[in-house]
Amino acid sequence: MYPQDYFASPLDGETILAGTFGELRNNHFHSGLDIKTKQREGLKVYAAASGYISRIKIAHFGYGKALYITHPNGYTTVYAHLQRFSDKIESFIKKKQYDQESFEVEVFPSNNELILTKGEVIAFSGNTGSSGGPHLHYEIRDNQERSINPLLFGIKVKDTKKPIVKSIYAYPIDELSHVNNSNLKQKLRLIPLQNGDYKVEDIKAYGKIGFAINTIDRQDLAANKNGVYKIETALNGMPNFTINFKRFSFNETKHLNRLIDYPHYSEKKERLQKLFLDTNNPLSMYDNLVDDGYVMVYDSIASLYKIKVEDFEGNTTIIDLNINGDTTPISETSTNFTSQYYINRQENVILEKDKITVNIPKETFYDSFFMDFQVHSDTVKVHDKNRAANKYFTINYDVTGYSPEDLKQVYIARLVGWNNYPSYSSTKQKDDVLYTRTKNLGTYCLARDTVAPTIKPVNFTDGKWMSKYRFLKLKIEDKQSGISNYRATVNGKWILMEYDYKTDMLVHDFKDNVVKETNNNLKVIVTDNVGNSTTFEATFHRK
Ligand SMILES: [Zn+2]
Repeated sequence: MYPQDYFASPLDGETILAGTFGELRNNHFHSGLDIKTKQREGLKVYAAASGYISRIKIAHFGYGKALYITHPNGYTTVYAHLQRFSDKIESFIKKKQYDQESFEVEVFPSNNELILTKGEVIAFSGNTGSSGGPHLHYEIRDNQERSINPLLFGIKVKDTKKPIVKSIYAYPIDELSHVNNSNLKQKLRLIPLQNGDYKVEDIKAYGKIGFAINTIDRQDLAANKNGVYKIETALNGMPNFTINFKRFSFNETKHLNRLIDYPHYSEKKERLQKLFLDTNNPLSMYDNLVDDGYVMVYDSIASLYKIKVEDFEGNTTIIDLNINGDTTPISETSTNFTSQYYINRQENVILEKDKITVNIPKETFYDSFFMDFQVHSDTVKVHDKNRAANKYFTINYDVTGYSPEDLKQVYIARLVGWNNYPSYSSTKQKDDVLYTRTKNLGTYCLARDTVAPTIKPVNFTDGKWMSKYRFLKLKIEDKQSGISNYRATVNGKWILMEYDYKTDMLVHDFKDNVVKETNNNLKVIVTDNVGNSTTFEATFHRK
């Protein structure tokens, strides 16, 4: 089993969670704990155990500023969204940043460079990268780079509350199956009981049926809606499905999209966890499967289906559902969309019309299906957003005959939202082909971004004395294709500027001690994704 007292809490005080391990997130399972930091940044973060820093990564998105500590027992702890590192780590990484002339860096120090003892301050908590508010993301990985639920290592979180079930749905799986006289997915009526359990209004069903629920767990010391630890089901007393969130590997995390009802999520933003194993579901967290968790109803006998939802502390919620067999066939069944474009998931598929070609590698989708593929001028419909792709496919535009002038500032856009906003999709050109690699089905077209980024000084004006200032701040924005890169120099020498995409801020810390002269000529160049660039220049003085 996992060592219980080896890892200390990385923060002072009681552990309060804003997110649990395995929680369902956008295209992934949450791989650690999100520990609350009193809505503040700058709390001390401690090494959970002795070891050495084996990786430091600074990125605009994702984990922002992150540290990885490898411990002698083979585990690695991860600390993410940090505001800044301790002085010894900070000076180590700044040197790399100045060497590489880049804010974004990733280094793998060897085991004798940055050695730490248990409880040593390694960083200060923050909100960097793709973080929606100040917190510490904390992970424990094993030596095979699998994430393990940190609560299994003895971290205590106060939780006496039962998980809450928000909705339950039934799915007739094949053409002959039906629930309450319908072949379509049905929302069932959930009746909360006094003790926190639930009863579901009796249903009539026939054939192969599956169920899915939306469930959350709250802990005692915060109102955050977190994930549950385990879900089990039983049919007439016999267990037929278990899922638990103890551990997973990184190559399976994207398959969250197979666990949830993805079309439902895409349309309604509600995550329903399926309590059955679909075909081509590679996830490893299932157990005790009988009939892959499906309920088979082929006579008029009544069955009792029970669902047990459990949090890490063992608080459980039970849902009871009576299924009455209904052998009367229903007259109408739903008709599925068909087209001449059949995507066989076992094969590489190339779709082609006019100047547009779409290349879909095999096993991009979980099922084979008929694709809605339409081309009108430079607009291409590649089905719709309600289907998940777990591999990249490529959309190619043949631009033979376009002059370089015609193609200047042109990018491939995915139309998003009610107003069909042309969202930039990473666009590259090879010979006479403009292409993008994407995992998003939907409608794409060519768009042009003619507007260069804007650069505005925030805490200074041209000619200002800045002797008493700690930071130099600018705001950079690009409304359409987005910022691709930025570069700042003072008197011709590169200076580190930290970029935060959430606030559009570009910040230099004078404590880096690279701005040493009295008269300083600042030059900032910002380029967008189609190559439009803006140069900002100003002078400032320091003594
Ligand atoms: Zn997190």
